[in-house]
Amino acid sequence: MEIKHVGVLGAGTMGNGIAQIFARSGYTVSLCDIEPAILERALGTIGKHLEREFSKGKISQAEQSSTLERILPVTDRRALSECDFLIEAAWEKLETKSQLLKEVDRICRPGVILASNTSSISITKLASLTSRPESVIGMHFFNPVPVMKLVEVVRGLSTSEETLRAVRELAMALGKSPVEVHDAPGFVSNRVLMPLLNEAMFAVMEGVATAEAIDEVFKLGMAHPMGPLALADFIGLDVCLDIMRVLQQGLGDPKYRPCPLLIKMVDGGRLGRKTGQGFYTY
Ligand code: NAD
Repeated sequence: MEIKHVGVLGAGTMGNGIAQIFARSGYTVSLCDIEPAILERALGTIGKHLEREFSKGKISQAEQSSTLERILPVTDRRALSECDFLIEAAWEKLETKSQLLKEVDRICRPGVILASNTSSISITKLASLTSRPESVIGMHFFNPVPVMKLVEVVRGLSTSEETLRAVRELAMALGKSPVEVHDAPGFVSNRVLMPLLNEAMFAVMEGVATAEAIDEVFKLGMAHPMGPLALADFIGLDVCLDIMRVLQQGLGDPKYRPCPLLIKMVDGGRLGRKTGQGFYTY
């Protein structure tokens, strides 16, 4: 099926970035979230990013406005019946994603690929909730989406070769580099990254060093562009906690126990950059 019109479900941190790169590459995008205010904020963010690209001379004014025009904000999920490809970037909760996958399976035409941007949830499990498990796949973008090159392409137990090929091609059409992995909790990226971030939080909690000192160790000693605690704030502490819980539940090893300080900060609404307060103040 030729892909021209893409549905993006969820217009938060990741959804707005995903919508931006698809629209920038010429696809029509239906961007769907639960409230008009969230969509307005997402379009505002995309507008600002495009303005920055224009001021740096990376895009023309015509490209800037046509990119924005290609993004259609919708709150009624039935509008997604028009799409030739769908990617969900809603909350990292199994209940949310399960309900959405079942719903879009009913709404989208047969043969339309249903991709998930999940950071950790089983693609095989999500696929089994639909009538088209062969067309369900993980398409895991990284934050900030317009900048990061990687797309972790996650193959569920029933994902077909055809779906895999189509998603690899789509990632390349967006200027990204797809890397194929098998379905396992946290895939590769978060299975390896999240325990590092979680351990850095234990070090803060136990008073081993300040967040600033820990981040300096990783920037200066390991050439990481961002230390683990600044990165956790950037990702969102709620997202980090959700991922740790998937690793803990899925792999069953106590080494994946979420740091109590992380749980406390999420309970207190300190979610990182998006709320203005996390390990740092923004
Ligand atoms: P976010 O909280 O910023 O955005 C999620 C959006 O989903 C919200 O705007 C919410 O209103 C919307 N939503 C929830 N239920 C919905 C529904 N039923 N219909 C439509 N919209 C709905 O979260 P995020 O950081 O953008 O993460 C989204 C997904 O991307 C998660 O699965 C997360 O694990 C994954 N992810 C996040 C990062 C990151 O760095 N934040 C990186 C890679 C992948």
